[in-house]
Amino acid sequence: MANTVLPVLALPHPLILLPTARITIPVQRSTGEELLSLVQHAEDQPLIAAVPLTSPDASLHSWGTAARIVRLIRPPARNQKQPFLLTLQGVARIRILEERNTICSDSADGIVERRVEYPEAEGTPAMESIIKFKASALRLLELLAKDTSQQAKRDAYRKIADMLENTTDGKMANMADLLVASVNGEYADKLDFLSASNAEDRLSRATTIFVKQTSITEVSKKIAQSVDDSLSKQQKEFYLRQQLSAIQRELASITRGTSVSNSTPIIPDVQGSGNDAPKVSELDNEEQAEVEEMADIKAKIEAMAKDSEERKMGVREWRRLKRIPQGSVEHGVVRNYLEWLTSVPWTGSEGNASAISMETLRNPAFISNARAQLDADHYGLEKIKKRLIEYLAVVRLKAVQADREQALATSQKSVEASKEPHPSQTDLETNVSAMVPGQEQSPTPSSSTTKPKPSTVKGPILLFIGPPGTGKTSLGQSIARSLNRPFQRISLGGVRDEAEIRGHRRTYVGSGPGLIVQALRKAGRPDPVILLDEIDKVSQSNFHGDPAAALLEVLDPEQNHSFNDHYVNVPIDLSQVLFICTSNSLETISAPLLDRCEIVQLSGYTYDEKVHIARRFLLPKQLTANGLTSEHLELSEDALMHIATMYTREAGVRSLERAIGGVVRYKAVEWAEHIDTSLVDAEKHPEDTRNVIDKAVLNGYKRIVETDELEKILGIARWDADERERDERRGVVYGLVVTGMGEGGILPIETILIPSGSGTLKLTGSLGEVIKESGELALSWVKTHAYQLGITQHRSIDPLKVPGETRDIHLHLPSGAVKKDGPSAGIAMTCAFVSLLTGACVPSDVAMTGEITLRGRVGPVGGIKEKVLGAHRAHIKKVILPWANRKDVEQDVPPEVRSAMQLVFVRTMEETLEAAFGKGVLGWRGESMPVLESRL
Ligand code: ADP
Repeated sequence: MANTVLPVLALPHPLILLPTARITIPVQRSTGEELLSLVQHAEDQPLIAAVPLTSPDASLHSWGTAARIVRLIRPPARNQKQPFLLTLQGVARIRILEERNTICSDSADGIVERRVEYPEAEGTPAMESIIKFKASALRLLELLAKDTSQQAKRDAYRKIADMLENTTDGKMANMADLLVASVNGEYADKLDFLSASNAEDRLSRATTIFVKQTSITEVSKKIAQSVDDSLSKQQKEFYLRQQLSAIQRELASITRGTSVSNSTPIIPDVQGSGNDAPKVSELDNEEQAEVEEMADIKAKIEAMAKDSEERKMGVREWRRLKRIPQGSVEHGVVRNYLEWLTSVPWTGSEGNASAISMETLRNPAFISNARAQLDADHYGLEKIKKRLIEYLAVVRLKAVQADREQALATSQKSVEASKEPHPSQTDLETNVSAMVPGQEQSPTPSSSTTKPKPSTVKGPILLFIGPPGTGKTSLGQSIARSLNRPFQRISLGGVRDEAEIRGHRRTYVGSGPGLIVQALRKAGRPDPVILLDEIDKVSQSNFHGDPAAALLEVLDPEQNHSFNDHYVNVPIDLSQVLFICTSNSLETISAPLLDRCEIVQLSGYTYDEKVHIARRFLLPKQLTANGLTSEHLELSEDALMHIATMYTREAGVRSLERAIGGVVRYKAVEWAEHIDTSLVDAEKHPEDTRNVIDKAVLNGYKRIVETDELEKILGIARWDADERERDERRGVVYGLVVTGMGEGGILPIETILIPSGSGTLKLTGSLGEVIKESGELALSWVKTHAYQLGITQHRSIDPLKVPGETRDIHLHLPSGAVKKDGPSAGIAMTCAFVSLLTGACVPSDVAMTGEITLRGRVGPVGGIKEKVLGAHRAHIKKVILPWANRKDVEQDVPPEVRSAMQLVFVRTMEETLEAAFGKGVLGWRGESMPVLESRL
């Protein structure tokens, strides 16, 4: 151990200089001068002992570092107070030998010379200590490199790590000095480290410092991360909002500036109407609008019935809204909710009185008015109108009765209520007690006044079934008009998600209420007529919930007084809403839904009815829509009939309306051209005082559209060609069908014989199981009766397997993409097979429907009215129908259709064949089959 004397410099607390490290510190002027003379008198950079203090104002530590003075900067002479700047480079550990080491860094004696010793050789540390030291140091370095955002620092850490890897064991203690000097650590730890002269000791103390530092870094990183996450989101949002409002302010000032310059007329305003002040658009005056909207929400909550669920919810949310800072996302969410909550027309809320409709219902002339309304809006539909009047009568009776009961109840209550004191403060004014949990719901004196029970008008729910364009929607509108209630239509086609009906919960991003609440908001009254359109198209239960079940709840009079929309989350009373459903066909409606409805069937119109509807309703509507009047245009009776029969062939009147619209638009163009020429003429001949129409007519404008003009206007008639194509062919018979849209029509059944087959039947055309079975049944019947029909010469011969040739039959139903099913094509298929095998043809103006049994009996089928009307539209002359459907025809089919066609009712296949092929066309061998009534 070598002894020497060194000038000692006390380092300011809490600085420490380790060997290999370099620091720059300020030193007092006096000390600085001393150091300067030291430097000036030394040959090389002089050494001093840089010794740390054990605590602020306390004694010198016994260990220090011999350091070289690398740089000493003297302050300018004019600035007396500025200290010297001293840079030291640590060289080696030293220990102060003398006991008098109680000077302070700021003490007047400045630099004092002391005896110091350099510790002896450090020795080589144990392998285990080296491994621990290396691992802890590398871990810390890696963490530091990962944490820092500066590339230079990262590189430095990585370089040190590389150096550490390559350091020999003997130099490891020096490496520890270097590392401890470059990482942060506690002062006491570092002092302790400085006092360790032994290599082994130094490594273990360094390891402790590194481990400590690593865990501190990790924990603080985690804390910083989590704080950062939550803070940065809020800060970001705050900054963005600030920026947004600043931009908006800027923009507003710019637009105001330009509007001022634009509105300042260069030429003085002669009328004097110009106001120099810039007009503020309602779009710009945001603050005012905001205040008004909030006042509106508040007023609506105050108007809600006392003590009602919706009011409680409204008050709670209102108070919450007041507590949330404006501009935050949460504020927007709560505000949006309140807007929805207050826009629902709650029963019992002030101003939502269903008084208007009650007034209408109380009117003694209500029924006759309703009838007049239905007649004014619709032609024909006598049975349906009768049914609707019955329905309205029931609604009226129930409403009036409920009204009376309620009036009695309220008069009693009002007597009681008048004795009670009135509350002076509204529950929306945030009082302190309301903020205290538990006191919020405390009953006020007003709680005894309950929400008046609305007069519920529970009638059966009407379900209009029929093809498109038959007036289902417009009947609903008429009902609403006659009840003096708002009308809303909800289209259910393709609703797959229960949430579309019930709304999404508020926790859901972008949530909102369902279709029912939306309709109520639009209606603005608690008692609208809501048309649930295409109820058959609602999906059944799936992974989005069960929309059909939600609809059941809406329609069930027992449940719908407390319908729960997930978004609004307060039970809504739908019992005053009048629901009307529509559907195209009965088959696709679920049984429970059907159970709640009263069915009103609209099957379609005859040609006569269509012409009447067109003349009375569709043509005037189209004329008004296109800016013409009946003076400008008329359609002859024949032309209307021609459009109905040759251009459209639907059950309803939609295409008819479109075609009429086409004619009107065509004539509107013609008329516009004539007006132009008339104006020119009028200028030339001012003496001509005849009216414009007369003049146009004189100039060649044709007011009345005749049949022969239609081709020029509407193009070639669509159904003309179709009819011409319908010729009599072997193996082809026309059946009657009802499509998925509920429309009746004819469908050819085509059969052919395929030679060299195996005697089998092939069925194509998207056929369902039932219709396939019915085809096989028909063929079996024909095979068993092949001998009687003269197809084979012996009873035992299969007509498809005649000696020498085995053939297949292929039966096809066109429109291959449309699914077909049901037993009603049985007799038509049988006739087609008979025609194919005998060679006799069924005339192309004969169509038939009926189920066949194995015994050859003809069973009843559904959709008779639609089918007969469809046949009529297709200009069929003879319709063969099951005997059991006779009453359907008598009841449902209009007399003009019945008289326009021959309707044959059959009980057996024999009768069918005779009616289809004509009497005596097919030879029938042997006894005819006796007709037996089924007694099952
Ligand atoms: P749907 O709802 O059955 O598909 P709409 O009610 O929309 O049919 O009717 C289509 C158009 O036909 C409407 O303009 C309607 O006024 C008209 N319409 C249907 N039936 C009649 C009728 N019997 N009398 C007068 N207009 C009718």
